[in-house]
Amino acid sequence: MSLLTQFETEQLRSILRTSNYWATFNRNRYPEQIQNAIDNIYQWVECSCNDDCECKNHGCTHHLIRNHDVKFDKLYSHFLNCYVDVRAHDVVREGRTKGRGSNAVIATDYIRTMWEIIQAEEVRGFQKSLICTNWECKPFINISESFQPAGENIYLAKWLSLLSLGTYIAYDNSSVGLLNRDFDNPRTYRELIRKIRGDLITHLTENQINITDFCLSDNPSEFFQNIPVNNPRPIGNILDKLYLVL
Ligand SMILES: [Zn+2]
Ligand SMILES: [Zn+2]
Repeated sequence: MSLLTQFETEQLRSILRTSNYWATFNRNRYPEQIQNAIDNIYQWVECSCNDDCECKNHGCTHHLIRNHDVKFDKLYSHFLNCYVDVRAHDVVREGRTKGRGSNAVIATDYIRTMWEIIQAEEVRGFQKSLICTNWECKPFINISESFQPAGENIYLAKWLSLLSLGTYIAYDNSSVGLLNRDFDNPRTYRELIRKIRGDLITHLTENQINITDFCLSDNPSEFFQNIPVNNPRPIGNILDKLYLVL
């Protein structure tokens, strides 16, 4: 039992609407920054999975794939814009390893050391989404298994999410508490994502809704007029917003 299995799509649509409304008060204007990241570092490509892939059971037509020519510094700017409060950008860029912003610095340093692996063709071009049968690729399995969903490592989840917006889910200090409760205190972030994936698939099946229509239940354009209505809605980001409500 979780939010995804207990609530119908219409109810989730209403929660997402509330979430987008509150985001207008967010200093970073989070939905707009996610949109910029999609426009600048992703491509929306036709689903190339075989018919026996789970995503095809749910009417998948497109996936978000990271561009091949993105440099770390560009990703880093998007990471700050999307996920770090604008007031903390300077201390994070200075590399402060104690106090406010230090967890973002530590997570960023870790990702930087992994950059060559993360940007390798077989990782960057891994064309799967959260609901695909084989939804994980190697380096992300290792990273997602290395930490528990908890307040001190919100930035690792945020980095994974930015690197794979169709799969990984960012969380915040408050939403991680809800996620842990809702998914029975998973031991690792990987286990959390696996459980959410299972419940999302249950939700799609029980509500008889395909993944495209599910994603359209998030409509940030209503409150953010410069986000085009037909822009891709990343699965990971939608699930993040569902729990960002409180
Ligand atoms: Zn697909
Ligand atoms: Zn697939």
